[in-house]
Amino acid sequence: MEEEINKLDIEVIPTPKIDNIKSDLTFKLIVVGNPSVGKSCLSLQGTTGKFEDSYVATVGFDFYSFFAKIENQLIRLQIWDTCGQEGYRSLVQNFYRGTALAILVYAINDIKSFNDVGTWVKQLKAYSNPDVKMFLVGNKNDLENERKISEEEGRKCSKDLDFYCFYETSAKTGFNSKEVFIKAVKLLYINYKKYNSGQNMNDGGKKTGNKKLGKDLLEKEKRKKKECC
Ligand code: GDP
Ligand code: MG
Repeated sequence: MEEEINKLDIEVIPTPKIDNIKSDLTFKLIVVGNPSVGKSCLSLQGTTGKFEDSYVATVGFDFYSFFAKIENQLIRLQIWDTCGQEGYRSLVQNFYRGTALAILVYAINDIKSFNDVGTWVKQLKAYSNPDVKMFLVGNKNDLENERKISEEEGRKCSKDLDFYCFYETSAKTGFNSKEVFIKAVKLLYINYKKYNSGQNMNDGGKKTGNKKLGKDLLEKEKRKKKECC
């Protein structure tokens, strides 16, 4: 799989200020993890290349889009940025359903956020697609002086808990921020192609005969519906 991913050519399209892009394919991913680990900043940095220090804490959900062209298909990664506050967990659980890929973020200077990774994994497996792919991300790697979790510990955790891959990132400096989403979009595209081989790539997965995957892993762009706020 990794080889296929590396071989795939991808062109990242900058997200426009006014998002009126009509994509051929839309994939949904969610970003989860404890409060303040940098989920919103990472989503913003990964999609726009910006870092906003005074970013307002997410209440409920925020949406971001990441656009890329692969094999002449314009793909939208629809990123659901969830809040980690306890009070909102029941709300968040409803949105796990139908997610193809989850990015689980901890901060390298926040032990609790790392210790809670297992709990997040359990939630993810319980409430989303059992085949959900997971990426583990140790964010804030610019804060080397405050580091509590080594890169090796992060990597080991990602192996032990069946994550597809592991990255350290910095939403502040931009380190690896875009790479996470590039890998995500490539992986989702390859999976999509596998499940839809022999089918029309533009059918939104509806003709796959695998209704679950067609419905859960891929949402055909609903052009009339405003999807970003
Ligand atoms: P969320 O609750 O997980 O969405 O966290 P936020 O994205 O709102 O970020 C929480 C705080 O951490 C904010 O003050 C950010 O400025 C800061 N922050 C986020 N990412 C980074 C990073 O990579 N490095 C540093 N130094 N600070 C970060
Ligand atoms: Mg947030």
